[in-house]
Order: sequence, then structure tokens, then C-alpha cells
Amino acid sequence: MRTVFAGAAILVGLCVSNVHAAEFKCQDDVPAPTYTAEQQQLVDQFWQETLLYLDAYLEVLKTPTGVCKDSAEATIQTFDSVTGKKQSRCILKYRDMELMAKHLQAILDEPDKAKACFDTQKAYTAFQLYTPSAEVRKMSPVSQWIDRPLLTDYFTKMGGPIGKAGLELNENFAAVTAKTNAKAHWKRDVSINGLPTLWSSVGWIPFYAENEDARNERFRGGYLYAEVMGPWGNLRIEEIDGESVGAEIGMTVQLFDSSYPYHYHHPQEIYMTLTAPACVDQNKYMVLHWDSDQLTQDRVADGWTVTVDGSSDAWKGWFLDQNPTEEWLTYFERNAIHAFHLKEGCNATIKDSGLVTVWARSISRDNQQTTRLCRPTDGKPHVNDMMPWTKAVCDLKDWKP
Ligand code: ZN
Repeated sequence: MRTVFAGAAILVGLCVSNVHAAEFKCQDDVPAPTYTAEQQQLVDQFWQETLLYLDAYLEVLKTPTGVCKDSAEATIQTFDSVTGKKQSRCILKYRDMELMAKHLQAILDEPDKAKACFDTQKAYTAFQLYTPSAEVRKMSPVSQWIDRPLLTDYFTKMGGPIGKAGLELNENFAAVTAKTNAKAHWKRDVSINGLPTLWSSVGWIPFYAENEDARNERFRGGYLYAEVMGPWGNLRIEEIDGESVGAEIGMTVQLFDSSYPYHYHHPQEIYMTLTAPACVDQNKYMVLHWDSDQLTQDRVADGWTVTVDGSSDAWKGWFLDQNPTEEWLTYFERNAIHAFHLKEGCNATIKDSGLVTVWARSISRDNQQTTRLCRPTDGKPHVNDMMPWTKAVCDLKDWKP
């Protein structure tokens, strides 16, 4: 008998350890620098806040909200013609989200292994990463040590309306990002208020500053995103147990009184709103599936030409008001058409406005990852007036399932 019990104990021990014995494969471009003890402390601080962000992210996905029993309820279309209302789904019912949750759990179970794939991106060469301002850099010794170029300098040099908008956002970055409220759904404050090292040390990208397709100059200067985890972020894990890691998790910031035109892409995307708006309709967004009957679809080689006609106030039926309590979570399926319109509403000022989100994509390693903007149908330039009511055409490409 004694032998049997001993055998069983060993088996249990093996099973328990097996649960946590995942194999992590880092991307080839993760460096392995040698740090002094002092530098290692800074790296560790950055890593700790990264883990807290990912941990809170997983928790918020798993916590039931709305009518969902197994996970958070996400808006997947802001207007559904069948019901005349928005359409929602329990977010972990999507297979890509289930995988993302599984991979995040593996990281949180064995953080020391995952850490081998963590890079501060201090010496990142794929493209330029920035810190918003000197004020933000001062928020953390980690950011000071990484010493990225400042976006305030970048936009000063750029000048013109895009430079002006960029300066307005980046000079006020700390105030804009601090005007957030994570209390309703998050177990900890994942904003710059709760994780100042992460938000000040991650590499920021002025994604549209040099992209004319976005057309609206105030938006082009007034939009930033950062990637904490993913193919171009700090934590670059290619595979866990031989499974491709599609999770791409970061954050975005958009300047008030700016409009992000209709756009689309192959990877599925998730936004969680952190900004508490100064009034109900300050921040609006829309998402419609590409095949929605609100839009017009024409089949072309390798894809669809989709026309979005928001004129005659049609757009008003599509857009919803974003906030951190009720309309806080949205999931965009592949090629879904979406937009963020921060123009109507109260008399906003830079200090009480803007849109800060926790941003993610779930499949960042297949098909085409590029974000594509819809174009005006009338062939006119449409600088500064590419709005929700401007008739637009989106050239969608088929994706491989
Ligand atoms: Zn998108």
C-alpha cells in the first residue's frame, strides 16, 4: 500500500508541474544585453508594470459583464439592422480571444520564462519609438534611462497644422492620459495614474503624422499608439508550446476635436475606453461588419469594394457614445469598418478631453496586418473634411481563414 501511495504522490507532483511547464519561443529580434545591477533594476521595474497591465487585461476579459456569464460583453456592431440596436457578444466566445487569454495565462503563470522575451526597446532599430514630452520622461527613471527622442521635438520640427496638433497633444499628454477612470471594470488602475512607469517608458508612435491617407490634419497630429506586447512591442513572444502568439496589446491616445476616418484591417481588434468624457457625447465611435446592409458591397478580384455613405444623418444611427462604464468594450471582427469621432458634444478643452484606450489585436501574425483607410468617392482631396458623413469607399482584401 505504501508504495502505491508514494507513486500517486509523485504522479500528482508531475501533473501539477506539467500544467506550468510551457515552452516560450521569443522572436528572433529580442536582444540579450548585459545590464549593470542598476540598469537591471530599471528593466525589472518596466517588466513588473508590464505584467500588471497584462494581468489586469486578462482579468477584465474573464470577468462577466452585461448578459455574459463567462466573460465580458463586447459591442461587436454599433448598429444592427435586424434589431435597430447595437449587437454584442461575450468576448471569450471568439476562438482568437480564447487563445489570447490562454497565452496571457501562460505568461502570468511563468513570468520568469516570459521575461526572456522582454525588451525595453532602448536600442530598437526597426522603426523610431518616442516619448511624448520632457514632462512624461520625468515621470520615471526608466523613461529617463531609455532616453527616447521626444514627440514635442518631432512635431515642432514638422510644423504646420499637423505639427500644431501634435504639439497640443504631446505637451498635454500627462493631463490627457490622467483624465481616465478605470474603477468600473478594472481590478487596478491600468492608466498612467496607476502604471506611470509603463505609460512613460513604452515607445509611442505618431502613426498618422506622415500618412496622407488619414486626411484630417488635426487627427494626423493628434493620434498616438504604443505596443506593450506583440510583434513590434516590448514583450515579443512568437510561440507558446508551438502555438503562434497572436496577442498584440498596447494603448492609444487621440486628441479631442479630431476625427479618425473610416478604416479597416484583417486582424481582429479590441478597444477598452479609459477616458471619462466631460459630457455624454464627447467621444463617439462606430463599427459595422463589412457585409452589413447599412453599407454597399461590390465583389472585385481578391476582395470587396465597400461604400460607406453616412450622409443625410445616416451616420448618426451608427455611432455610439464611448465611456469607461457602459460603452467601454468593443471587438472588431476581420475587415469590420470602424471610426472614432471626437468632434461633437460639449465645449471641450485639452485638459478635460481626448480619448485614451487600452488597445489590442488578437491575431497579429497572419494575413495583412496593415491598417487601411477608406477614401473619398468624389476624387476631391478632402483635407480636413473626411468626416462620418463624407461618402467613402473601402477597398477590402479577402483574408485567408
Ligand atoms: Zn482598427
